[in-house]
Amino acid sequence: MSEHRCAKRIWSHGGFNGRACQRPGVIEEDGKHWCHQHAPSAVSERRAKSMEKVNAAIRKESNEIARRIACLAACAGVDDPQPGELAALRAEVARMKERV
Ligand SMILES: [Zn+2]
Repeated sequence: MSEHRCAKRIWSHGGFNGRACQRPGVIEEDGKHWCHQHAPSAVSERRAKSMEKVNAAIRKESNEIARRIACLAACAGVDDPQPGELAALRAEVARMKERV
């Protein structure tokens, strides 16, 4: 068992001073002791994984927009086989572009 406590201070809504993490400081980084959750390297790793998920979602959405734009381009000048369907697709693509 480590004699050190984790150096992380945990802030909560309405608190003025925060409180110290109560877990043992078992990892030493940047001259301080940290628990497995709050070690700067662990925090960086979690953030990187989280950002990768966000980037993957953005790539997926961008690919879907590109696919729909290509679909619209392929249908350019063609009469709408299902009345309203192309107009609905154009409106949906416009909404998706606003989100990106
Ligand atoms: Zn901690």
